[in-house]
Amino acid sequence: MRGPRRQYDWRAQTHHLRKGRQQGAPDVHPQILEQVNAYQTSEGCLSLVGERPCTRYRRIKVEYLDENFVHRIKNFSGYTAEIIQHEIDHCQGIVI
Ligand SMILES: [Zn+2]
Repeated sequence: MRGPRRQYDWRAQTHHLRKGRQQGAPDVHPQILEQVNAYQTSEGCLSLVGERPCTRYRRIKVEYLDENFVHRIKNFSGYTAEIIQHEIDHCQGIVI
């Protein structure tokens, strides 16, 4: 099943990253510990033109250090989880 198509323009991405940060999104050295309920979608990126298909997970558990370098483990779901997966891919050298 394909998820809704979304275009990541820089304003939307910045808004969602800011929103994610307010919700305690991972800051330093994030590692995904669990991935639940895979789905196919397509994403855009500031580094690319257009969109590309990719697999994401509806819920993820992430281990990371927060802005004060305190160890955290937290679950994320929905669009916030999708953005975090996209950004963690970048940390690992993956562009969609
Ligand atoms: Zn990107």
